[in-house]
Amino acid sequence: MRNVHVLNLGAGVQSSALYLMAREGRIPCDVAVFADTGEEPALVYQHLSHLVSLGGPPILVRSAGKLGDDLMHGRNSTGQRFASIPAFTKDAAGKVGMVRRQCTKEYKIEVVDRTIRRELLELKPRQRIPMDVTVYQYFDISTDEAGRAERGKRRFAAVRHTVPVYPLIDLGWSRTDCLAYLRERLPYEVPKSSCVFCPYRTNQSWRHLKRTDATGWDRAVEIDTALRADGSIVTRGFRQKLFLHRSCEPLAGIDFDALAPNTLDPLTVGECHGVCGL
Ligand code: SF4
Repeated sequence: MRNVHVLNLGAGVQSSALYLMAREGRIPCDVAVFADTGEEPALVYQHLSHLVSLGGPPILVRSAGKLGDDLMHGRNSTGQRFASIPAFTKDAAGKVGMVRRQCTKEYKIEVVDRTIRRELLELKPRQRIPMDVTVYQYFDISTDEAGRAERGKRRFAAVRHTVPVYPLIDLGWSRTDCLAYLRERLPYEVPKSSCVFCPYRTNQSWRHLKRTDATGWDRAVEIDTALRADGSIVTRGFRQKLFLHRSCEPLAGIDFDALAPNTLDPLTVGECHGVCGL
């Protein structure tokens, strides 16, 4: 029998706590995989470098390409049609909707799966995982979002050889517990991990990005504008215009100081399976 223990490292609060626990031998971990969309804030990449420097379990940084560039060029790294991000739309009656998200699957889940198959198990394309191998995948879902763990378990129910593990749920740890744990071990606050242009943001989070990360903000505005550019390949197949912000207004013109704090729309949360750091 061979057991392989893989941590899905999103480099946000919860998965960073898991990584440090693995480093302390509190959970088994042969390797951590960071699926890089190429679009994280600079602070996340600095944090990742710090984790690497600690000399814990190896961290493999793997990528399917730079998500925003692929969006704007209309194709992904394999030359297929771009993977859509969960952008907002508004119909003529003013009803707000959201585009089906493909980015998590192509730029996160499949990157981790490919790394496990090709690099850890050294399988050829389409080769089956040997009967005597079990892969334990560790996810960073805390008690605040237990519903995501249930959805994750359902995703893996039919996947032979792979067992999802949720150590934070097992420990009864919330995000607050993770923050307290990290504060004792890191000399800085762990930044939020997600693409700078991810539409899964509150008004507070957009305001924070704009005030604290000029490069990330500019990139978000660039992608938001590209979503509606005349003739843009991204807009083909969509009757309505696409926006990053739920108001369906161009991001560059939104006055976040004038907007009330909000929470994430329940319709938009919860399908990242602990791999997007959201
Ligand atoms: S952070 Fe957002 S935009 Fe980036 S891959 Fe995840 S869901 Fe998609």
